[in-house]
Amino acid sequence: MHTHKLRAASWLLASTAVCSLPSWANTQHDAHVHGQVELNIAQDGNDLLLEITAPASDVLGFEHAPHTEAEQQALSTALQQLKQPASLFVLPAEARCSLQDSHITHTLPSHSDDEHEGHDEHEHEHEHEHEDHHGHAEFSVQSVYRCEQIQELGQLTLNWFSHFPATENIQVQAISDKGQKATTLNAAQPVFRF
Ligand SMILES: [Zn+2]
Repeated sequence: MHTHKLRAASWLLASTAVCSLPSWANTQHDAHVHGQVELNIAQDGNDLLLEITAPASDVLGFEHAPHTEAEQQALSTALQQLKQPASLFVLPAEARCSLQDSHITHTLPSHSDDEHEGHDEHEHEHEHEHEDHHGHAEFSVQSVYRCEQIQELGQLTLNWFSHFPATENIQVQAISDKGQKATTLNAAQPVFRF
């Protein structure tokens, strides 16, 4: 169980990909970035793809496989929220967007309590430490919309912050007919304008 209190400023500037760099593997496990979510927006004709990638610690408060009943419950609650893109994004009604497809993935280590039966407590804890050393886990949600009046799609409001208050910033990268745009949103300013 790590606390992530030691986030250096330079690490905040790095992309989430840093977790996979070998040089980080054997150092302390506070090295990866939490509180930072990425949103990619791609519009092509009437199609709109929203892809949001978030640290599991932002979504769940932990990033190991759920061990306790409370953690199992946290995971299933989070999955229910992520399954409803309407609770994450608000699109202008006049753009007449309808959800075509939505897909959730996560990189939590697969692991069940059953695997620990017969293990003594020391082994159990050791295994968890081992996982934490290797594990920065993320959730990713891809949502595809078809918008009948795509020209009315002037903005996108993120409800993410009210569901997942551990998130400090959402880095947005957008590609649309209006060009490319990159910006940072937060709870005080959750609206992306194309
Ligand atoms: Zn992490």
